[in-house]
Amino acid sequence: MVEGITCSSPEALTGQHAFGTDRDEPECPACKSRSLASLRTVSAREAAQFFAPERADAESHERIFACVTSLWGGQTCHIMSCRDCGFGFAWPFVAGNAEFYNFTGAAGVYPRSKWEFARTAAEVERLNRPGAKVLEVGAGNGYFLDLICPSLVRAEDVIALEYNEKSIPILRGKGYQALSVDLRDKALDGYRASFDFIFLFQIVEHLDGLDELFGRIRSLLKAGGSAFCAVPNQARIEYQEANRSVPDLPPNHIGRWTPQAFEAVCRRNGLMAQSAELEPLSWGEFLSHDISYSHIRRTQLDPDGIIARIRSLPRGRTRRLMEAALAALFIPTRLSAWRHAYRNREKLGASLWVRLDRCERPDIAELQDAELAPAVTAGSSSPAESEAMFS
Ligand SMILES: [Zn+2]
Repeated sequence: MVEGITCSSPEALTGQHAFGTDRDEPECPACKSRSLASLRTVSAREAAQFFAPERADAESHERIFACVTSLWGGQTCHIMSCRDCGFGFAWPFVAGNAEFYNFTGAAGVYPRSKWEFARTAAEVERLNRPGAKVLEVGAGNGYFLDLICPSLVRAEDVIALEYNEKSIPILRGKGYQALSVDLRDKALDGYRASFDFIFLFQIVEHLDGLDELFGRIRSLLKAGGSAFCAVPNQARIEYQEANRSVPDLPPNHIGRWTPQAFEAVCRRNGLMAQSAELEPLSWGEFLSHDISYSHIRRTQLDPDGIIARIRSLPRGRTRRLMEAALAALFIPTRLSAWRHAYRNREKLGASLWVRLDRCERPDIAELQDAELAPAVTAGSSSPAESEAMFS
């Protein structure tokens, strides 16, 4: 019932790219605009307390504090919002590194099914590419790949990138080629124009070096190929932060994506944002996350209180039961937030999903984009809504 905070995607997929460390002149990493608003400032101590509470593990807490201070080149990071494309981002725009993810104790627990898995599988089926070669970045235990293999893609045509050592033998056992490298690693240089489809689920929000990332995606796609990304829905993050649920802090997530931000970064990198859809709100998913995240937030806001003390007990059945009972006790305090969520249910699905197509002539990508923007579709959304997502 009471879940941990997802803090997966090892640096891993990112390597270190210290873009955006010039504190004096922040610019939007997605569209390069300098028309920005500062939403809040996060201190390194707050981040350390969030990712590794001092009471639970003082050594990890201090390591995270030192690590985050080093990543930011100081003890503060600003959460900015771009007035032009809506991209929310950490400034300095720097991803977590291996040390950060090691000390946050990411458990490597992967959901077996997610809305974006089914949505992408349906799109792959619709695109009907027999013999397709595919690449998944951050494949976990391969649960998405299992949906498309072998019915749509042969296992031998799959390359899975994954940093979790425990997942590599699982992926290989399913017949996928599993590599423990960054998408931008030289090991993939030989795969130019090799893939029909590239998948990145809950990955992009962890990454910096956006031009390098999206340029690489384009170079790895075949002509006519598509990449599929799912990222946390910005409106859901805003709901959480406005309603005493867990905030979305760097350097774990450093980007809060919008369709317009994808469009801008694609335009510079020879890709075209073809469609964007919000996950329909699932009340089961929403309520279970809201109950557990607001419980976790209570422990963060009162680190010496009884709830935090219980959460710092050794993991096990007793702690789990006590936490579930405590979380249930506070349900009445969530009702007004849930009423707000009900009124905004059209916007509060967990994920934003996009399909990005390779443009054949990057020099005219911008022109193509402008011409084709009205044709953007949003699947289950109405045409008017889908245009709105890119306007
Ligand atoms: Zn922007």
